[in-house]
Amino acid sequence: MHAAGGYLVRPPKPNHSNMSVLIVGSIALDTVKTPFEEHADLLGGSASYCAVAASFYSPVNLVGVVGKDFPQEHIEFFKKRGIDLAGLQIADGQTFRWSGEYMLDMNVRETRSIALNVFEHFNPVLAPGYSETPFVLLGNIGPNLQNHVLDQVKNPKFIIADTMDLWINIAKDELLRLLKRVDMLILNDGEARLLTQQTSLIKAGAMIQAMGPRFVAIKKGEHGCLLFGQDEDFFSCGAYPLEDVHDPTGAGDTFAGGLAGYLASAVKGDVTFADLRKAVVNGSVLASYNVEQFSLERMRTLTQRDIDDRYDSFRLYSHFEVIE
Ligand code: AMP
Repeated sequence: MHAAGGYLVRPPKPNHSNMSVLIVGSIALDTVKTPFEEHADLLGGSASYCAVAASFYSPVNLVGVVGKDFPQEHIEFFKKRGIDLAGLQIADGQTFRWSGEYMLDMNVRETRSIALNVFEHFNPVLAPGYSETPFVLLGNIGPNLQNHVLDQVKNPKFIIADTMDLWINIAKDELLRLLKRVDMLILNDGEARLLTQQTSLIKAGAMIQAMGPRFVAIKKGEHGCLLFGQDEDFFSCGAYPLEDVHDPTGAGDTFAGGLAGYLASAVKGDVTFADLRKAVVNGSVLASYNVEQFSLERMRTLTQRDIDDRYDSFRLYSHFEVIE
C-alpha cells in the first residue's frame, strides 16, 4: 500500500465559473430522536444534505421530489444557497417522511418509520440543461433510479454514487449494474461488509473496485474514512475530534456532497488520487460541522472561515511528524 500523506491546499472559495454538480436523491421531512432530544418534521433527505454541502464549493443542479406540504422556507433555504431548483418536482401528495432513533453510541441508529408518499412514484427527469452537468452525485436512492439518471446524462466527467444496506439487501443486481457505470462508490463500513461478505475493510475495498468503480470511499462513522484508488493508492482520513455530536443524520450525505462539490470546483483535467484525497478531507470537514446541530441547521450559519479553520485542524491532527 502507498500510504498518502499531507494535503496542503486550502479549500477553494465558491466561484460561479466552477463546474457544476448534478445531485439526485431523497428530499424528506425527518423526525429524529437522540438519547437527549427529539425533533419532528425537520428538513432532511440524502439530496438535501448532499446539495447544501456541495453548494459551499460549486453550483448545484438538484433533482428530487417533494409534496405540496413541503415548507416554502426550505425552498428559500435551497435558493439562498444558490442551488438550481429547475429539477425539483412538486407533486400532489405528501413529502417523503423518515423517522430514526439514535442510541447512546450514536453510530447505532434504528429506523422507526418510513412513509414514501410522493417518493413512491418518483421519476427523476433531468431538467433542460442538466444532462451535460460534468460532475454527477447519485445520492442514496434506489439503484434503479440512479441508473435511470445515468441513462439521461451526456459525457459526464466523473460519477459518484452513494448507497445503503437496504439496496444491497433488496436490489443487489440493479446495484451491481450501477457499479459498472460509476467512477466512485461511497458507502459505510457495515455496507461494505454486507456487499462483499468480507470482514476486512481493506479486502472489501479492493473487492468493490473489482465490481466497477475505480475509486471507493468506505466511511467509518466517527472514526474517519478509507479511500481506495488505482495501483494500490490508499489514503486513511481521520475524523475531527468533536466533543458534542447532536444529530449524526446526513453526515454521510454531507460528506459526499462536500467531496463532490470540492472536485467540481478544483479539478480542471482528469480527477486524480491527489484530488480525491483533498476532496475526502473537505467532505469530512463539512460532515463534522453538520453533526453539531440537528437537520441542516449548522449549514445555515457555516462560513468559509469555519471551513478553512477546520481544514487546518484536520491537517494538524493528521500530521504524524514532530512539529517544532
Ligand atoms: P444518512 O444519515 O446519511 O443515512 O442519511 C439520512 C437521510 O436519509 C435522512 O434525512 C432520511 O430522510 C434519508 N433516508 C432514509 N431512508 C431513506 C431511503 N430509503 N431512501 C432515501 N433516503 C432515505
